[in-house]
Amino acid sequence: MTDKLILVLNCGSSSLKGAVLNNDNGDVLMTCLAEKMGLPDAYITFKVNGEKERVELAHAPNHTGAVEALLAELKKLGLYEKVGAIGHRVVSGGELYSDSVLITDEVIAGIEKCIPLAPLHNPAHLLGIHAARKYFVGLPNVAVFDTAFHQTMPEHAYIYAIPRKYYTDLGLRRYGAHGTSYRFVAEEAARFMGKDSSNLKLVIAHLGNGASIAAVRNGKCMDTSMGLTPLEGLVMGTRSGDIDPSVFSFLANNAGMNIQQITDMLNKESGLLGISGLSNDCRTIEENAEQGHAGAVLALEIFSYRLAKYIAAMAVAAGGLDAVVFTGGIGENSNTIREKVLTYCAFLGLKADHERNLAARFGNGGYITAENSPVTGVVIPTNEELMIAHDTARLSGL
Ligand code: ADP
Repeated sequence: MTDKLILVLNCGSSSLKGAVLNNDNGDVLMTCLAEKMGLPDAYITFKVNGEKERVELAHAPNHTGAVEALLAELKKLGLYEKVGAIGHRVVSGGELYSDSVLITDEVIAGIEKCIPLAPLHNPAHLLGIHAARKYFVGLPNVAVFDTAFHQTMPEHAYIYAIPRKYYTDLGLRRYGAHGTSYRFVAEEAARFMGKDSSNLKLVIAHLGNGASIAAVRNGKCMDTSMGLTPLEGLVMGTRSGDIDPSVFSFLANNAGMNIQQITDMLNKESGLLGISGLSNDCRTIEENAEQGHAGAVLALEIFSYRLAKYIAAMAVAAGGLDAVVFTGGIGENSNTIREKVLTYCAFLGLKADHERNLAARFGNGGYITAENSPVTGVVIPTNEELMIAHDTARLSGL
């Protein structure tokens, strides 16, 4: 345990999210968000004790400028001296990393090697890592990979049924995502239920704007719904999830669309947004469904039905089912979707408790099935930043 603070960085191509956490108690002392990076009007917003401060990044509207501004802010707040290490979220570690690692030049080369698997994200993470090394001289940097937790999946879960050469030559396989969240939630769920995580069959649904589900047997991931990219699996805010790949040739032949246009449509215009024609935001969909909007009603039903089908499938991967765990913005807040899913899955032994399900909203978490339910349903709020902070402290020796 340490009294040092951890800086957690999550760099996207046009944004940078940061947080300073106390690794012991999870307290967040500061958060920041840099936006519009790459454009002349880029800026970074710092949030401390609920107060916001905006700093323009006009002189350097990029990751380097944002990290420089972050350093200045930490010095101003008197937090700089207390930061002991920096943890970086990295989307893809491919098959190279099955755990978080202390960043060395070799690890930077490894993250570069994985760029084909995360062409938008890994380059942005590298910009953040280089900037952190430049401005926070001497501090250890740790990479925490979204894919690492899924590296325990057996071959029969990660190999696609296509000619093997595409895997051996190009690394085309299923990798999954949201791994840091799954690891946190699996541990927390075991703790909450008073069970030993090394003897527990969990199916965990991480339902945010991106949504996926994973089977965790005795603390290890056995399968997950996202594949080579986050497009596979569940219905999401704007992603279709599983679809017949022949959609590509159908739309090319019948709508004159090219590969990029179809890929964009499946990633950005589909899911809750595509079905409802209204929004990718679950709250908006629920409000409109209550008013009787047919598209919104159907979107909720398809989302819930497809999720329920996946829960049953993931019970196969977990080799049984002790508990179904819900997390992420939708999983933690939408009692409507949880109730629909529990109803579909009643035959698996999930006995819904309406009152408990309502009480579990708004970050409260808790059981959503009856005390005598053969299979437990539970909501566990995720905290990826804290998991990154824990790994960073562990690997930095703090
Ligand atoms: P991200 O994947 O971007 O981290 P979140 O985990 O924050 O996303 O989840 C965002 C989703 O959670 C949105 O669809 C949002 O509508 C949904 N959500 C948040 N609060 C509620 C709520 N009270 N009821 C239903 N859905 C909610």
